[in-house]
Amino acid sequence: MAEDAERLEETGEEEEIPESEEPVKKPEISEKKKEKKPRRNPLGMLFNLRMLRRVVQIIFLLGINAYIFTAWFGAEYITAFWIAIRDIMPSIPILSPLEAPFAVIAGSFDTMQRTFTTGLFPFFTIGSMIIILIFIGRAPCGWICPIGTIQDFVTLPKRTKTRPSASTETELRKFKFYILVIVTGLAVWLGVSRVAGGEETLEAILGVFASDAFAPLNPAYILFKILPGLQDAGLWPNSIGTLWYITQWGTALLQLAFVVFVFLVSVWVPRWFCRWLCPAGWLYSVFSREALIGIGRNPARCTPDTCNVCEVVCPMNIRIRKYPYQHMHSPDCIMCLDCKSHCPNDAIVIRFS
Ligand code: SF4
Ligand code: SF4
Ligand code: SF4
Repeated sequence: MAEDAERLEETGEEEEIPESEEPVKKPEISEKKKEKKPRRNPLGMLFNLRMLRRVVQIIFLLGINAYIFTAWFGAEYITAFWIAIRDIMPSIPILSPLEAPFAVIAGSFDTMQRTFTTGLFPFFTIGSMIIILIFIGRAPCGWICPIGTIQDFVTLPKRTKTRPSASTETELRKFKFYILVIVTGLAVWLGVSRVAGGEETLEAILGVFASDAFAPLNPAYILFKILPGLQDAGLWPNSIGTLWYITQWGTALLQLAFVVFVFLVSVWVPRWFCRWLCPAGWLYSVFSREALIGIGRNPARCTPDTCNVCEVVCPMNIRIRKYPYQHMHSPDCIMCLDCKSHCPNDAIVIRFS
């Protein structure tokens, strides 16, 4: 597997096929199909999936908070116009707080949580979220979400990644479900209290967790809502002499430290926040499992007994070879297509079904 070695050298990963995880049985393949050689893209150096995804991610990272540019150039009327209609636009399955002052579009989970706390049921948000997830799966996680994008970029320079065993990964993934249950339960409880009256006591107990229990630990909320709020409060240090303002940040300082921690750990553990902590990711995975678009493997080209490149490069640490060749219905797949662009045999195919 000279090409495997070449690819692994390029990604800096170590080849290691998990002993306990036997690949699924390969279907019978006709001799004619076996003879097919992998196609090569002659413009691969210039135009490839990895580069395309990076470009899309950067565009959305800047575009999601694009009002910062209209504010910068003094075109507040554009911001005012779009903010007026933002609340009736469908949200998308990413993390992006509705209240962020520069946000162009909101994340489904953030909007859903906020709506629950008002005592209403977010029919429109959940409906649009399900439609998007059924059609394109968790592709917004892989291509659009700013928190996923930053994790992807900080992990790029590190060549050797840390990957827990399958059993540890399974246990760690349960955390995001527990977080989802807690924050959604609190949001519904508060919403019901507000409708029924007498919510003051609950609000006082919950404190900063009252309006959206996940917000204080949501990296998107901290970066796009709390940080601009410090500027509005006149606490943003604009010079060396005002650096002491940071001591006035209070809980915002702890929250910022948490965000730095999330991105720092991502250097060694790709997308660990997405894999283990993000409750939105868990919710989105429920509806993306049977998405119309997905990943499959061509059995005529795939050589799972001697190769595991796709699993080594997968940022979501998915045991790809365990899934059927025809269609890999993994709830954790974010359709980043890293497996496709790294496969030495061009065996990964995009399925529509
Ligand atoms: S799982 Fe990751 S990419 Fe998806 S919404 Fe959460 S932070 Fe964003
Ligand atoms: S899909 Fe490609 S990278 Fe994955 S096991 Fe098969 S040949 Fe190797
Ligand atoms: S299976 Fe492939 S497309 Fe899905 S998350 Fe892993 S590398 Fe990305």
